[in-house]
Amino acid sequence: MAGRGAAKPSTKKSARRSAANADLPFELPQVAPSLKGRATRLLAALDEYYGDAVCELDFTQPHELLVATILSAQATDVGVNKATPALFEAFPTPADYAASTPEEIEPYIRTIGLFRNKAKAIHAAMSVVTETFGGEVPRTMDELLTLRGVARKTANVVLSTAYGIHMGVVVDTHVARLAVRLGLVDGGTTVPQIERRLMAMFPRDRWGDLSHMLIWHGRRACKARGAACSTHPICQKFGSCCELRDQA
Ligand code: SF4
Repeated sequence: MAGRGAAKPSTKKSARRSAANADLPFELPQVAPSLKGRATRLLAALDEYYGDAVCELDFTQPHELLVATILSAQATDVGVNKATPALFEAFPTPADYAASTPEEIEPYIRTIGLFRNKAKAIHAAMSVVTETFGGEVPRTMDELLTLRGVARKTANVVLSTAYGIHMGVVVDTHVARLAVRLGLVDGGTTVPQIERRLMAMFPRDRWGDLSHMLIWHGRRACKARGAACSTHPICQKFGSCCELRDQA
């Protein structure tokens, strides 16, 4: 058990962290300095190789990003980007979705999995955006979470990508897989816990970039199957993470 002398600096440090993240609804976990160092080196390597990483969903307005992100659940960004030009042309504003029915939205997204449920979610979300938020996609996590089809992952995408507001880290299937493989979290860590640990490890103003860069690495090199462990420069630097090295 730590004595009184040892506890004091830790309390001050914790208070500073709380003040910096006072708008977050939860405390971030403590992270060992060695792990923070690893995260810092990883971020530098990601910056070097994926410095131009951006969200790969096509959009020009926040509500279009929200719609595209709802559509992207269990679907590829490529598939979503094929469907959205016609959808966005038919429904230029949130009010246009609100004035329609889910059945009128369905034909535009029929090529995307779970399209019936997604049409209902888009219609419901855009109706609330129109009627409650004056036609503007809200800029707070709590308000976004009131929209149908929107959980933390989608809200984080919209807040960081459309508005530059960092309230969390997007943890999709790629980010969750890489967080384990890169040794940032233990296997079996839940998605909410992965998000909090990444938030604690990386600077807040980089949370959005971090998600994009990990997603790019997950799509291009560290794939679920056929990871490019022996060839990618990032992997040569951080390859000790690699459970799949022998199979690559
Ligand atoms: S070494 Fe392999 S497991 Fe590790 S990040 Fe690279 S591709 Fe992924």
